[in-house]
Amino acid sequence: MSKHLKECPFCAAKDACVVGETDWFYVACYTCHADGGGAETKEGAAIKWNTRAGENA
Ligand SMILES: [Zn+2]
Repeated sequence: MSKHLKECPFCAAKDACVVGETDWFYVACYTCHADGGGAETKEGAAIKWNTRAGENA
């Protein structure tokens, strides 16, 4: 059910969770309150978060 989320790219906490409503979701870090960007599905939000976490910008 829950999709694996990478650790937070900002604070490195493994404290991220998908939040949102029926047609709008995003991944938020409960430690530093970063968010990964909105998407229409939980999967999309998770992908956005994971993609961002994988970047080394
Ligand atoms: Zn964080």
